[in-house]
Amino acid sequence: MIIGAGIVGSTIARELSRYYLKIIVVEKKSDVAFGSPTKANTGIIHAGYDDKPETVRAKLCSKGNAIWHKIAPEVGAPFKEIGSFVVALKEEEMSVLKEFKERGEKNGVPDLEIIEGHEELLKREPNLNREAIAALYAPTAAITSPYELAIAMAENAMENGAKILLETEITDIMVKKGELRSIQTNKGRIRTSYVVNAAGLQADEVSAMAGIDSFNIHPRKGEYYVFDKVLNGFVKHVLFPVPTPISKGIVVAPTVDDNILIGPNANDVEDKNDSATTSRGLDEVFSGALRLMPKLAEKKNIMIANFCGLRPETDTNDFILESYDEVRGFVNAAGMRSPGLTAAPAVAQTVAALLRKSGLEMSEKDSFSPFRKPIDQSVRRLAIERAKELIARDPTWGHVVCRCERVTEGEVLEAIRRGATTLDGIKFRTRAGMGRCQSGFCTSHIIKILAGELGISVKDVTKRGGNSRLLLYETKELLRRAGLDD
Ligand SMILES: Cc1cc2nc3c(=O)[nH]c(=O)nc-3n(C[C@H](O)[C@H](O)[C@H](O)COP(=O)(O)OP(=O)(O)OC[C@H]3O[C@@H](n4cnc5c(N)ncnc54)[C@H](O)[C@@H]3O)c2cc1C
Repeated sequence: MIIGAGIVGSTIARELSRYYLKIIVVEKKSDVAFGSPTKANTGIIHAGYDDKPETVRAKLCSKGNAIWHKIAPEVGAPFKEIGSFVVALKEEEMSVLKEFKERGEKNGVPDLEIIEGHEELLKREPNLNREAIAALYAPTAAITSPYELAIAMAENAMENGAKILLETEITDIMVKKGELRSIQTNKGRIRTSYVVNAAGLQADEVSAMAGIDSFNIHPRKGEYYVFDKVLNGFVKHVLFPVPTPISKGIVVAPTVDDNILIGPNANDVEDKNDSATTSRGLDEVFSGALRLMPKLAEKKNIMIANFCGLRPETDTNDFILESYDEVRGFVNAAGMRSPGLTAAPAVAQTVAALLRKSGLEMSEKDSFSPFRKPIDQSVRRLAIERAKELIARDPTWGHVVCRCERVTEGEVLEAIRRGATTLDGIKFRTRAGMGRCQSGFCTSHIIKILAGELGISVKDVTKRGGNSRLLLYETKELLRRAGLDD
C-alpha cells in the first residue's frame, strides 16, 4: 500500500511496478496530483548544489535530477533542460556562489561554473538586472510540469499493474506485535503487510497512526504570479537570488508551457488546507522578482494568475526516509519539502531498498514497460499534418474548446478516458483553462463534455471533487426559489 498519490507516491508506485508485487495507491482526493505541494510548486528539477552534503536531501537531489533526465521522456512528461543561475548582485554574495559550487561538486552535480561580469551574463540572459556581477551556472537544472509529471508516473504505474483508489482516505493503521496487519479507510479495511507513507502534508498524522510519532509536519506557504505566454523568451533560464536561511528565494523562471513564473515567498501558516494567496505575499513575490529582473515592472499588466502551495516542512528541514524495527513493513517518505519533486525518483529507489530490507520479496518483471504515451497535442502545437490525420479519423480533434491554449474536444475526451472526472482533472491533463482567460471560455464546454461522458447531470460536475460543484441551480429553479418566476 502506498498512501498518497502526489509526485512522491506516484513515482514510488511506478518504481515498485517493476517488480512482481500487488501495488495499491490510496489517495483521499478525487485525482492524482491534487495535493497542494504537487500541484502548486515551481516545477524546477534542481541541479542539487545548495543542500549540505551530509543531508538526505543533498544525496537524493542530484541523483533525482539525473534519473528524471532519463525517465521524464520515457513517460512522455514535459521536461526542458534549460539550466539555472544563482545571481549575485553584490560583492559579498560571491562567497555563497563559491560555497554552492564546492557543495555541488561534493553532491555530484556536473559542470557547475561561476560566470563573472555582467556583460557575459547579459549575453546569456538579456533581461537580467544590469547590476548582476556574477552567477553560478548549473546546466543540468531543468523545468517540468509537476502535475503532468505525477499523472504520467501514475498512469505508467497503472499500465504496469498498480491500482489507484481515489477518494479513499486512510483513517487508521493496524499493527500487532510489531507487524503491520491492515489499514482502515473510509471505504473499508484492506489487509497489507507493507505500507509506504507518502502522505505529504499529512505524513505526520499517517505515521502516528502506525505508532511512529517522532516528527511534525508544519506547512510553509509559497505564493506565485504567472505571466501570459506573450512574454515567451523574455526569461531563458531559471534565475535564483542568493537564498535566505528558509528558502531558495524568489525565482524568475520560464515554464514548460512558455509562461513566466515568479515566486515563491516562504511564510509559515497554521492550516494545512490554507490555499489563499494574500496581497501582501504577492507584493513580496513581485518585489523579489524585480531584484533579479527590474524590466518585469513594465509587464505587471500581463499577469494572468496567482496561486500558492504549502511545503511540508519538518523541524530538521530534511526528508524522513526510514523503515522501523518496531513496525516492520512501515516506511516513511515524509517531510518532502523542496527539492522533493526533483528527488522523487531517487526517493522511490530508496523506498524500494527499505522495503527489501524489511523482508519484502522483490523479483523483477520481464513485462515492465517504462514507456507511456502522452495525450496527443498535435493541434495545440500546430503539427498540421498529424492534426489533419487525427481530425479525419475523429472530428472532435478539430473542435477547439479552450481557445487560449488551443485544446480540442478530442484531448478532453482522451483525458476523461484516462481517468479525469473533474474540471481540474481536465485542466492538469490538457491545460484547458490555464490560458489568458483563465477558463472563462472553456468551462461551460468542459462541464457539458464531462457530464455527457460520465453520465451525470451538469449540476454534479465539480471543480476538484467533494463539495466543489460549479453549477448550483438551473436559472428557472433559482428564480422560483427567489419568488421571481412570474
Ligand atoms: C511552494 C513550493 C515550491 C516548491 N518548488 C519545488 C521545486 O521547484 N522543485 C522541487 O524539486 N520541489 C519543489 N517543491 C517541493 C515539492 O513540491 C514537494 O516535495 C512534493 O510535491 C511533495 O510531494 P508528495 O507526493 O510528498 O506530497 P503531496 O503532493 O502532498 O501528496 C500527498 C498526497 O497524500 C494524500 N493524503 C494525505 N493524507 C492521506 C490519507 N490519510 N489517506 C489517503 N491519502 C492521503 C494527499 O491528498 C496528497 O494527494 C516545492 C513545494 C512548494 C510547496
